[in-house]
Amino acid sequence: MSFDYIREIPSPEEIIETIPFPDSLKKVKEERDREMRAIFQRESDRFFLVIGPCSADNEDAVCEYVSRLARLQDEVKEKILLIPRIYTNKPRTTGEGYKGMVHQPDPHKTPNITEGLRAIRNMHIRALRESHLSAADEMLYPGNLPYLEDLLSYVAVGARSVENQQHRLTISGMEVPVGMKNPPSGDISVMMNSIYAGQQSHVFIYNRWEVRTSGNPFTHAILRGAVDLHGRSIPNYHFENLNSVAQSYMERTLANPTIVVDTNHSNSNKRYQEQPRIGMEIMQSRKHSDLLKDMVRGLMIESYLVEGSQSIDENIYGKSITDPCLGWKDTAAFVRRLAEVV
Ligand code: PEP
Ligand code: MN
Repeated sequence: MSFDYIREIPSPEEIIETIPFPDSLKKVKEERDREMRAIFQRESDRFFLVIGPCSADNEDAVCEYVSRLARLQDEVKEKILLIPRIYTNKPRTTGEGYKGMVHQPDPHKTPNITEGLRAIRNMHIRALRESHLSAADEMLYPGNLPYLEDLLSYVAVGARSVENQQHRLTISGMEVPVGMKNPPSGDISVMMNSIYAGQQSHVFIYNRWEVRTSGNPFTHAILRGAVDLHGRSIPNYHFENLNSVAQSYMERTLANPTIVVDTNHSNSNKRYQEQPRIGMEIMQSRKHSDLLKDMVRGLMIESYLVEGSQSIDENIYGKSITDPCLGWKDTAAFVRRLAEVV
């Protein structure tokens, strides 16, 4: 039983110095951040989609995916803002399996986190350069935020992390929207408490400093379905579920009350093909209630070039090695249908 100190991790400053964020792309990101804030602040009626593979496992496939998304973004830009999911670190249910590009820049090789930190920065910058769509990532390790923070337009805190104090405190210092998922148990109060915590100012240890944050007024809810005592999926995307979260918002004083619905995970029971049907049901629910129309502002969709999932050894380009995803053709059709009904 021991820790083997493999290599010392470079500081964020060292990595950013060698992989800087080009000024021309900073402007693109600033404009996108402004558009996103407008949605949260009700200055824009556009809907947004956080959309892309469960895990960004291959830079070329991810960049091809986001370039296709960029063309789709042009088509639907009046109605929908597309935020690519470029998820570089993956929480694993049993701790086993692929933990994301930050651990393994090449899923077939042994972990190398120093190289992983460079690889994820390179991939995010290349994806932005080629698509002009600034992206989302998951905050799995709050301590890793300084390596990527300048590049991200959206962050999600996963179902297994949402009750963690360090996550809650860290997001309170961020400027971009941060979605807090409901925990696997489905307990909505845990998610609401997390949204509240993220909106407050805190003093804590971050990046080897004692810091004070401003509070982030753009923390909000993501409903991802739950799991019952027997491990069965319980969806929480139906009208009654959305309404009950909207009521929870009404009972509290929170800035920019916003709900995003994750159409995969325990909402689809990972039957990824169900995502368009689930998405259309949510759009229908918005039409039945002004409150839901106001609060439900986005969906999270798992989608990649090739539908389904595979084991790492199968090596099919653009097919998920973690959760099963909708394929490109169905994705494009789904996004176009959403644009018709927003
Ligand atoms: C994911 O978004 O791929 C994910 C792991 O989500 P969750 O935290 O909801 O399980
Ligand atoms: Mn997933």
